[in-house]
Parts: sequence; C-alpha cells; structure tokens
Amino acid sequence: MELLKERILRDGYVKDGDVLKVDSFLNHQIDVPLLCEIGAEFRRRFAEETVTKLLTIEASGIGIAVAAAPHFGNVPVLFAKKSKSRNLDGERYTTQVKSFTKGQVYDVQVAKKYLTPQDRVLILDDFLANGMALLGLADLVRQAGAALVGCGIVIEKGFQPGGALVRGKGIRVESLAVIDSVSQGRIQFAED
Ligand code: 5GP
Repeated sequence: MELLKERILRDGYVKDGDVLKVDSFLNHQIDVPLLCEIGAEFRRRFAEETVTKLLTIEASGIGIAVAAAPHFGNVPVLFAKKSKSRNLDGERYTTQVKSFTKGQVYDVQVAKKYLTPQDRVLILDDFLANGMALLGLADLVRQAGAALVGCGIVIEKGFQPGGALVRGKGIRVESLAVIDSVSQGRIQFAED
C-alpha cells in the first residue's frame, strides 16, 4: 500500500535497533483518514470472504479495527483485553501472549458471549513481529469454535519470525507494508 509506505518513510523512525515508531499516525496520535484507507485496503484483500467479526487486541489495534468495520458492513469489533479485568462479566476465553515491546507474558481474554461458533473472524493488528499476539488471538478463535478467515496487519517486520510462524500454521496473513530491514535506522520495504 503505497500511501502507507510513504507515510512510514516520512514519519516513522527506528528505536532500539528493531522497534519501528509510528506514534505520529498509528500508535499514539491517529491519522483517521489514513486508517480509513487502511480499512478499505483490508476489505479489498479479503473481498471474497464473509466476515462477521473483527477481532483485535488492546490498545493499538482498536482504532484500526474501528476504522475497518464500515468496510466490512459494520460488523462488530471485539478487542481482547490484556489484564485480568474484573469488568468482564461471565465466562471468558483466555490465552497467554508474550509482549514484543515489553517482554513480559500476560493473559489475554475475551468474554465467551462475544465469540461464537457461528462467527467468521478476521483478526486485525498494527504490527507483526514474533507473531505471539496473532497466535494468541487465533487461539481465542479456536477455543470459541469460530472460523478464522485470516489476519490483516498494517506493518509486518519481515526480518522477524512471526510472518513465517503464523503462515506456517496455515493462517492467511495479509500485510499492507512489509519491512525487510531497519539496519542503521534505514527502513527498507520488501518487494511487492
Ligand atoms: P508480536 O506478538 O508479533 O511479536 O508483536 C506484535 C505486537 O507487538 C503488536 O501488537 C505491537 O503492538 C507490538 N510491536 C511489535 N513490533 C513493534 C514495533 O516495531 N513497533 C511498535 N510500535 N510496536 C511493535
């Protein structure tokens, strides 16, 4: 997606060797028209699929999924919660995810009543690095007996193992920008 790549080159920067910061338009301050374009592109990529729910993980995935929902017929957005929230009523599906940015393992959960065997789920997230977030979300879909349509990722770091790991499990992953390397702070995209 050219618009996205241009924006990453213009406003993104590399921190701590392999962390890409895109706080000015995706992860902290949000460029809403850009997110709407991103949502439209996800729909194009999964045009032939019936999707009944968009699943993501708090916090950065929420804005992405909300902007995508109108392109998927305004299906509900469900976001997995990272803490052992006492606000979640009733039974939950729980899995564990190791955070890429913080390094710690935490529980991720959704209420059972919002993920059912009738659902056809598209997972959306901002980054794909080691694939732990996606595999955790896919596990929640599996526990619910729902169908996993695939995963839509805004930025895949192709030099990290997550893409191969998740695709190796037979899960379709569509990434709108794939970064091949960030060596010496220079962002290089994979060939389309
Ligand atoms: P994974 O589970 O694939 O290792 O990492 C995915 C999660 O870690 C994403 O939800 C994202 O929040 C965070 N993440 C991974 N790599 C980056 C990065 O380079 N920059 C930022 N801002 N977040 C990242």
